[in-house]
Amino acid sequence: MNKEKMVQKLKEKISDKRYEHSVGVSYTAACMAMVYGADVEAARTAGLLHDCAKGLSSKEKLEKARKYGLPVSKYEESNPEMLHAKLGAYYARYKFDIIDEDILNAITYHTTGRPNMSLLEKIIFIADYIEPNRKMIRDMEEIRKEAFTDLDKCLVHILKNTIDYLETSSNDMDYMTKMTYDYYVNK
Ligand code: FE
Ligand code: FE
Repeated sequence: MNKEKMVQKLKEKISDKRYEHSVGVSYTAACMAMVYGADVEAARTAGLLHDCAKGLSSKEKLEKARKYGLPVSKYEESNPEMLHAKLGAYYARYKFDIIDEDILNAITYHTTGRPNMSLLEKIIFIADYIEPNRKMIRDMEEIRKEAFTDLDKCLVHILKNTIDYLETSSNDMDYMTKMTYDYYVNK
């Protein structure tokens, strides 16, 4: 599928604001790919499509995940928004004709990360957090700098702040976020 058609299709699925965010992730990921020697085109595409399933309602997310036979954890059952990552990868594969498994994995793990991530997976996880439309939350300036100087340090910094935030706001969290943090903090 050419980029033009991809963009047109994506715009039908998500809000203008979410599209702006996706473009932000796309270019940020492309720049990071330039710094770290990853595939720039793959980074652009993964960035553009990472939230392609975000436009569905919570109810739809749960229904579609079940319908497509995607694994739904207990945590996802009570937090269906989390499913936009897995569903996004499903849409990327079947509606946007993406066959690159690395791109599909980057979309699947963009919210939680996972232990032993590929370079592209790290780039999309980080680009989603730091893209220019994001609010200037705690340590953002420092995290943005780390994104272009020390990838793993940046990853741990984001995970640490995310976990701190979830703990203070008494939200529960996906066990995968904690697993990713434990893996990289001990690395
Ligand atoms: Fe997302
Ligand atoms: Fe996003």
